[in-house]
Amino acid sequence: MEAAYQTVWAHAQNATASFLPNTNYFGVLDMIKASQPQLSYAEQLWSAWYAWWQNDVIATGVMSFLLHEIVYFGRCLPWMIIDAIPYFRRWKIQDAKVPSMAEQWQCTRLVLISHFTVELPQIWLFHPMCEYFGLQVGVPFPSALKMACQIALFFVMEDTFHYWAHRALHWGPLYKHIHKIHHQFSAPFGLAAEYAHPAEVMILGMGTVGSPILYCALTKDLHIVTVYVWIILRLFQAVDAHSGYDFPWGLRTFVPFWSGADHHDYHHQAFVNCYSTSFRWWDHFLGTDKKYKAYRAKQAAEKQAQTALKAQKKGQ
Ligand SMILES: [Zn+2]
Ligand SMILES: [Zn+2]
Repeated sequence: MEAAYQTVWAHAQNATASFLPNTNYFGVLDMIKASQPQLSYAEQLWSAWYAWWQNDVIATGVMSFLLHEIVYFGRCLPWMIIDAIPYFRRWKIQDAKVPSMAEQWQCTRLVLISHFTVELPQIWLFHPMCEYFGLQVGVPFPSALKMACQIALFFVMEDTFHYWAHRALHWGPLYKHIHKIHHQFSAPFGLAAEYAHPAEVMILGMGTVGSPILYCALTKDLHIVTVYVWIILRLFQAVDAHSGYDFPWGLRTFVPFWSGADHHDYHHQAFVNCYSTSFRWWDHFLGTDKKYKAYRAKQAAEKQAQTALKAQKKGQ
């Protein structure tokens, strides 16, 4: 794979004066715009990023780290606001358990420590690994349809890996030494998605990063930007599954096999059942959602009985 910045730089130098050594990012972006007007704005931003750094490993490393921090905490923020507004309690799954500020801060601290100590060093290996497996990094980007098909496949692959790895983490010694930390919050909230032992972050991260890498090793046809979009969507899924809220307009209302927060919230509440991430099929076909289904059925029956009782009292 030719270094992305070299390709971009060659194009820019053909059309404009050579880069000044102290040109800032926006200066580089202007040169790219002038030299490659046929590119989309996103592609120009991408090209300028690699051309500005002039080092693909650092460009990919910094972008990966920033993307992870911005998307993770950015996605947690609306849930923190929702937790602070009593109006939304009607859709809280375990309605009596709203996370305190102290709990949220304790969680944020551990997540940040893990991001800076465990994930940051790994992110620097990401570009060399992509290079080794032949991921594309240049422009133009692949078509939206191709990206959507590949991402759909990654969701299925990751969900399968996660189901078995997560089930294994519930085996006595692994649970006691690793997975117990993630289960500290029996009523989860968005920030708790990555509250976990470093070993768990690595094990379950293998499903997220390993799925596209395996796909690329087999097909030799994958762009890093597709992997980024996949990781953004996977982060959204993980944070939302821990949000503790089940809104009637949530994805699971329209896609019956989508897990949603309802599924994973039960896993935190009961410590059993519902091991998958995105989809319900593994738990359904292997019967690891029987207790979850029985519990939700009991809740629904109780709610129905209460409503009937209220209606009866009104009628008297
Ligand atoms: Zn678990
Ligand atoms: Zn969880």
